[in-house]
Amino acid sequence: MDVNTVGVVGAGQMGNGIAHVMALAGYEVLLNDVSQDALNAALGRIDKNLERQVSREKISAEEKAAAMGRIRTTLTLTDLGQADLVIEAAAERETVKQAIFEDLLPHLKPETILTSNTSSISITRLASRTDRPEKFMGFHFMNPVPVMQLVELIRGIATDEPTYRTCLGVVEKLGKTAASAEDFPAFIVNRILMPMINEAVYTLYEGVGNVQSIDQSMKLGANHPMGPLELADFIGLDTCLAIMNVLHDGLADTKYRPCPLLTKYVEAGWLGRKTQRGFYDYRGESPVPTR
Ligand code: NAD
Repeated sequence: MDVNTVGVVGAGQMGNGIAHVMALAGYEVLLNDVSQDALNAALGRIDKNLERQVSREKISAEEKAAAMGRIRTTLTLTDLGQADLVIEAAAERETVKQAIFEDLLPHLKPETILTSNTSSISITRLASRTDRPEKFMGFHFMNPVPVMQLVELIRGIATDEPTYRTCLGVVEKLGKTAASAEDFPAFIVNRILMPMINEAVYTLYEGVGNVQSIDQSMKLGANHPMGPLELADFIGLDTCLAIMNVLHDGLADTKYRPCPLLTKYVEAGWLGRKTQRGFYDYRGESPVPTR
């Protein structure tokens, strides 16, 4: 199936990045949000991020202008009915996503592919509540979208091969690489990454190392570009905890139990970089370990 117009629902952190890469690759983009402020902020951010690519000579000023010209914003969800592919990237709450699909479905063309950028909600369950489970799949970008090379493509139990092939073609047109994942909790990247981060927190909790020695060990001893605790602060400790809970509940295996120290940081509101404090304190000139 030919995809020309892509609808993006949710213009937050992920939605603006998705609109950016889609427009740059030549797709017409319809970007929707419930908040005009979010739409304005998204356009501002896309403009700024494209400008950075121009200044680094990755794209030309003409390519930037053409990409900006391909993005239309709307507060009316049903405007996305014209899209050939819809990527839902609204808040990570199942009720929110379900309400979006219910409102949107009557306005979609029968052949339109519907996808979700969810990090943790079952694709099969989301798909089962639509009129097109065979044309529904997970389209999971990594953050920040313009920078990260990978997209996980997640097939629900009913997803058909043409839908997968079409989404794969879109990922390739973006110049990104797809990894195909089955629909089990946290898919591939977070299934492997989060237990490693959680184990780093256990290592801290049990006093095996401190923040600095744990991060240094994984950087210099395992060649990771960032230490696991530094990375946890970057992702957000609330997000890390939520994903561990999805693994723990969804796979019913005690090996995924979230570390009590991770829970304690979240209860304190020390969520990492976004609140200026997590495993490091970011309020000064350079980050200072909090343990
Ligand atoms: P965000 O909070 O930055 O943005 C969500 C946006 O959705 C907000 O602008 C909000 O106004 C909008 N929204 C809420 N309800 C809506 C509705 N009914 N209709 C239209 N818009 C609505 O969140 P985010 O970090 O961009 O995450 C979006 C999705 O992407 C989530 O499902 C999340 O799990 C997933 N995801 C996030 C990351 C990440 O690192 N942040 C990575 C991969 C996937």
